[in-house]
Amino acid sequence: MQTDIEIARAAKLRPIAHVADALGIPEDAVEPYGRYKAKIALPWLRAQEEKGKRGKLILVTAINPTPAGEGKTTTSVGLADALNRTGRKTVLCLREPSLGPCFGMKGGAAGGGFAQVAPMEDINLHFTGDFHAITSAHNLLAAMIDNHIHWGNALGIDVRRVMWRRVLDMNDRALRDVVQSIGGTANGFPRESGFDITVASEVMAILCLSEDLADMEARLGRIVVAYTRDRKPITARDLKADGAMAVLLAQAIQPNLVQTLEGNPAFVHGGPFANIAHGCNSVIATRAALSLGDYVVTEAGFGADLGAEKFFDIKCRQAGLSPEAVVIVATVRALKMNGGVAKADLGKEDVEAVRRGSVNLIRHIENVRQFGVPAVVAINHFVTDSDAELQVLREVAEAHGSQAILCRHWAEGGAGAVELAEAVAAIADMGAAQFAPIYDDDLSLFDKINTIATRIYRAEEAVADPSVRAQLDRWEAAGYGHLPVCLAKTQYSFSTDPALLGAPTGHVVPVREVRLAAGAGFVVAICGEIMTMPGLPKVPAAESIRIDADGVIEGLF
Ligand code: ADP
Ligand code: MG
Repeated sequence: MQTDIEIARAAKLRPIAHVADALGIPEDAVEPYGRYKAKIALPWLRAQEEKGKRGKLILVTAINPTPAGEGKTTTSVGLADALNRTGRKTVLCLREPSLGPCFGMKGGAAGGGFAQVAPMEDINLHFTGDFHAITSAHNLLAAMIDNHIHWGNALGIDVRRVMWRRVLDMNDRALRDVVQSIGGTANGFPRESGFDITVASEVMAILCLSEDLADMEARLGRIVVAYTRDRKPITARDLKADGAMAVLLAQAIQPNLVQTLEGNPAFVHGGPFANIAHGCNSVIATRAALSLGDYVVTEAGFGADLGAEKFFDIKCRQAGLSPEAVVIVATVRALKMNGGVAKADLGKEDVEAVRRGSVNLIRHIENVRQFGVPAVVAINHFVTDSDAELQVLREVAEAHGSQAILCRHWAEGGAGAVELAEAVAAIADMGAAQFAPIYDDDLSLFDKINTIATRIYRAEEAVADPSVRAQLDRWEAAGYGHLPVCLAKTQYSFSTDPALLGAPTGHVVPVREVRLAAGAGFVVAICGEIMTMPGLPKVPAAESIRIDADGVIEGLF
């Protein structure tokens, strides 16, 4: 069997200028990065949007996953190829993969099998440098904070209350907690701090939610980096860092155009975490795609409880987007896992476990419906699936009012997802969606958290210590109460306990900590252990990655 990288390498790619041309993008709006990647100029895209054409937006999300992922990216690619194959002008919008996980356990994030975006080596590694730019902009702000303190601290920053850490696009647990500025007076004031992975940076979330350059600069200025002794917030604007940060991001904010293995257009742009951030590609890329295509397929991170909820309540709310259809990716193996089967036994037939685990799928179907958007279930076919298991999955979905369609895009490319494409297009064309976020802007911050905990996670309630409630009250008093909330919890369960699979009830959602992302425009509520700087596993994927004398890379997946 061919590996993902072998399949990708065997594909004959079109020069990126041809892909752009097929979308109607003129040569002078295409900024090529090599032969197969390009950034598209923002002014031209803006002019295009002003013409008012709007494609139909389709979200791809999933049930609670196994650690390997259930194939959202793969299904997004397969669906976009199938829509194009059936004569529908479709643009794909994906997140950029993070470098760190490529060398760890999860591998890259450019799809798989015959449903990939290409060139996969570039996309998974340095790509067009966006993440490096974000890392630089983030760390410039960090340097300016310590520099300000070093030169007299005119703003009165409380060095115990500096919230802004540093970032690096690498899985490196050694940097989670550090003591910085040691070595003498010339090096500033020693304090504890640490590093997060670049995708966890608020600058990443800002780039992904900004409307344009001016909006990005304004958002960068609103970042709260520290507090004074009497708890007055200090912003990036106070430090005069926003202008230079925006300059560092001026190229990165322009969306990247690449192609699927079948030569169809894909914007791969931005990649925020789906726990402490909102987990979707940039608003700029999604808007651009909507103004160029008749259909736009986009993915949200993790399962629908995290990814879809944030896509609706944060991205669609802020950007005024209205999705027409949702695809919920389900796999037999993940339903078995939700039905209590151990990871090592997922390849063995177990019809009853699929039935037990299907409560997870049912709840996601019901949840998506709460946002007013119709859902289709895409069964991502694995070679180990049995007919009896697949039949159970179909019956369960249909009993709950959703079609379930078997898809073989991983093995067959777009041809394997034509039935899904027809079903999704029929729903989108009907225009029956009546999208609305699940809570209003004017609800209190804690009530917003509680709404998600009870209506999406189906908990009894959200709970928080008085200190957390007091912090939320202070932010409301300071004018941040209208912001949406971004809940960070495990991706494996509806609850905050990763071992509680299926469709748990009766649990509570403990809010351990809250963080203000005033530039991105949301308040993060941390529920359970959330890692913002991952580590590498005992045997990292990096040990098997090689390049030969001709520059051919092996071992990326
Ligand atoms: P997600 O976006 O949900 O995290 P991906 O689409 O990235 O998931 O897929 C996760 C991994 O599973 C990838 O390595 C992909 O190649 C693999 N994969 C996806 N679908 C299939 C399938 N039907 N059969 C075998 N492997 C698959
Ligand atoms: Mg993915």
